[in-house]
Amino acid sequence: MSEIHFVDTHAHILSKEFEEDFEEMLKRAEDNHVDRIMIITLSHTETLQAIEFAKRDPNKYKVAAGIFPEDVKDVTEKDWEEFVEIAKHPDVTCIGEIGLDYYWEKDEGIRKLQREFFIKQIELAKEVNKPFLVHSRDAIQDTYDIMKEHHHHGLMHCYAGTKEMAKEFTKLGYYIALGGALTFKNARHSVEVCESIDGKYLLSETDCPYMAPTPMRGKRNEPSYIPYIVEKMAEIRGVSVSEMAKTIDDNWTRFLEELS
Ligand SMILES: [Zn+2]
Repeated sequence: MSEIHFVDTHAHILSKEFEEDFEEMLKRAEDNHVDRIMIITLSHTETLQAIEFAKRDPNKYKVAAGIFPEDVKDVTEKDWEEFVEIAKHPDVTCIGEIGLDYYWEKDEGIRKLQREFFIKQIELAKEVNKPFLVHSRDAIQDTYDIMKEHHHHGLMHCYAGTKEMAKEFTKLGYYIALGGALTFKNARHSVEVCESIDGKYLLSETDCPYMAPTPMRGKRNEPSYIPYIVEKMAEIRGVSVSEMAKTIDDNWTRFLEELS
């Protein structure tokens, strides 16, 4: 049997929660065969830091840069220009996380601004020919409408919608990443999504340091917990863990290479 490879398609490993045991955290991921990690960055400084860090092993570590929905109201013209430049950087692989967050944002004016920035960043992703990674909370219909109209190559991170909606996303070629929430007791929607979608669109993620899977729920999350999520996926889909990991690994390769 070939060796198992896990992937974490969404990890904030440069966040301050990992400062104290950064190297140990990476070592635990390696020991658990979490062999590819997409580093999600939320600021220009963090993106530069990630680009520098990823040089350690460019096959293992990839960098994504995006303007997070909650941050759009503070973006100046200069910030935007800086972001456009960094988006072109050869070591920035994906544009994200971008999208809509109506859970935290109740102001209609700012929600509108979120939609404008979402569209602008998808258009930028098209221009630089890179996939985009979507954050969507309590805004699934608007997210879908925008991703249909401004169609490009991308994925839904931490997907929390219904299985019917997931099917609509995959029909447009979008991938669906599931994380720790899948392992929670009340995870009916996620389980149905995992069960019913075309397997070639399924991906695994931690969203660490948030959303730790059971049995680590409530603790700090980290990439080494990916096997808990993939084990759950394997159980739901009735396949072996190694088969599930292989499918996800292949999906991730295809996802990253589709535009190249
Ligand atoms: Zn995130």
